[in-house]
Amino acid sequence: MVMCCWISMAEAGYFKYKDPKQPLGVRIKDLMKRMTLEEKIGQMTQIDKKVASNEVIKKYLIGSVLSGGGSVPAKQASTKTWIDMVNDYQKGALSTRLGIPMIYGIDAVHGHNNVYKATIFPHNVGLGVTRDPVLVKKIGAATALEVRATGIQYAFAPCLAVCRDPRWGRCYESYSEDPKIVKLMTEIIPGLQGDIPAGSRKGVPFVGGPDKIAACAKHYLGDGGTHLGTNEGNTIIDPKGFFRIHMPAYYDAVIKGVATIMTSYSSWNGVKMHANHYLVTDFLKNTLKFKGFVISDWQGIDRITTPEHANYTYSIIAGMNAGIDMFMVPYNYTEFIDGLTYLVKNRFIPMSRVDDAVKRILRVKFTMGLFERPLADYSMAKYLGSQEHRDLAREAVRKTLVLLKNGKFVKKPLLPLPKKASKILVAGSHADNLGYQCGGWTIEWQGLSGDITDGTTILSAVKKTVDPKTKVIYNENPSGDFVKSNKFDYAIVVVGEHPYAETFGDSMNLTIPEPGPSTIKNVCGSVKCVVVLISGRPVVIQPYLATIDALVAAWLPGSEGQGVTDVLFGDYGFTGKLARTWFKSVDQLPMNVGDPHYDPLYRFGFGLTTKPRKNL
Ligand code: BGC
Repeated sequence: MVMCCWISMAEAGYFKYKDPKQPLGVRIKDLMKRMTLEEKIGQMTQIDKKVASNEVIKKYLIGSVLSGGGSVPAKQASTKTWIDMVNDYQKGALSTRLGIPMIYGIDAVHGHNNVYKATIFPHNVGLGVTRDPVLVKKIGAATALEVRATGIQYAFAPCLAVCRDPRWGRCYESYSEDPKIVKLMTEIIPGLQGDIPAGSRKGVPFVGGPDKIAACAKHYLGDGGTHLGTNEGNTIIDPKGFFRIHMPAYYDAVIKGVATIMTSYSSWNGVKMHANHYLVTDFLKNTLKFKGFVISDWQGIDRITTPEHANYTYSIIAGMNAGIDMFMVPYNYTEFIDGLTYLVKNRFIPMSRVDDAVKRILRVKFTMGLFERPLADYSMAKYLGSQEHRDLAREAVRKTLVLLKNGKFVKKPLLPLPKKASKILVAGSHADNLGYQCGGWTIEWQGLSGDITDGTTILSAVKKTVDPKTKVIYNENPSGDFVKSNKFDYAIVVVGEHPYAETFGDSMNLTIPEPGPSTIKNVCGSVKCVVVLISGRPVVIQPYLATIDALVAAWLPGSEGQGVTDVLFGDYGFTGKLARTWFKSVDQLPMNVGDPHYDPLYRFGFGLTTKPRKNL
């Protein structure tokens, strides 16, 4: 009898790992015992979609694919193009012997920012200002839906960097210089992944359902603390300071069930994080009990050596020994697979280390229901750039604005601006430039200029907000004479930094590029003006302050420019408080709240308020 049933089960193709009714541990164990070394190493390999195809995934048993940087299938690809692509890769994975689904990852770091027509939320530097975990949780949930709308299940977000020096070109990916604010913002994780069920074991990853995605806390650890703010640099600090500043957000991320954590390119006291066994294995995995998977950064193990890729065998050993589980080896994946296979077969790397990595990867894939729902659902497409999400982004923009100055005399504030006027001027390189407004990591890796996706520029938002009888004149960089001769009631000047992302954004001078300063001089020297700064960090502003009547830090607000005008014109009040210190001159850097030499232009926590017009 027993024999008969056992045979019929086998005939029916019963595999425990495929049965969702089996406990997670049983499924992982069952699948692990069926896997060959080749299949295991495939799971640990993540390749870029530029080299991925259904056939490559099948042949090399690839466990994960990514869209690196800001690469899109085609500039203006539809959700269908995305879903078709992801599903095609998935079919490659499903057609392998064991049919283990692949997971597709993307940098959805301020909304689903690689994708045309997605809602672009403010970058983290603005969100930190809000100190509003409920808001970021909602942003996380909206981002998850938009990512799923393209068939993707995994985002390399949130960035939990504690940026201690604004000269770092990734400072805008950080919520704050203050570890407490960064920790508060880990609430985006349950937004992206769902709330961890009550009674869950600490450190166990959780991703709940088809409308949620796996998150990735990055870059572990100390990415925001490097000397001079150098990207991929060295964070020189004693263990006490290192843990106090950079670790708290990761404690919380692990408690909230974050599925994955990415190692940082940077070093701590000269030791590369991609090779740091103590921090990755002893501390993160053993002490904090993190049970999700650790992923390397893009060619992160190559960068363990200087020059990069100088000794790849050593890099694989160092990365594996540190405790990395999935390797982002975008292009040279065959070299990685061959290298790791050789090293395991010849016992330079223990099989137990491979098994640890694969179990973690499978745990995430099982937990999130990838085995049950491997293929994307086209009906999710409706969430991309939905009105509801745009409204949420607009609300977020309102809360990210910090009012730094309001009128030359306290008793004569300029803001809120009157909607009714005879003629007003809108000026500045950033007034009608959606690409500038969104910053880096938008459509392209380093960001773009101009009309790059759907959204509202500040100029068009002004036109939508003012009284229909108010004449709005737009001049990107007017002369002082033009301004004087036109007798404007007031001017709105929108200037700031041009988009940038990692490496290219490092800056030692932090000045606003021309013609920004000349626009400020020409306009503010001639008429009452409010300057709206679009920047990923505090920039040099003191030299122009005397001419400026009102000053607003708008950071990188994203696609919904109406959030800015909602507050400028008084439909809502200014509430934002600086989550970063605003320096007087770059010679003071690094300078963070609590430092003994603290002498800022605007201190951490500063921000003037206004009342909504109806309450005036
Ligand atoms: C960045 C990561 C990013 C990865 C994939 C790297 O260069 O440091 O933050 O997730 O690329 O695009």
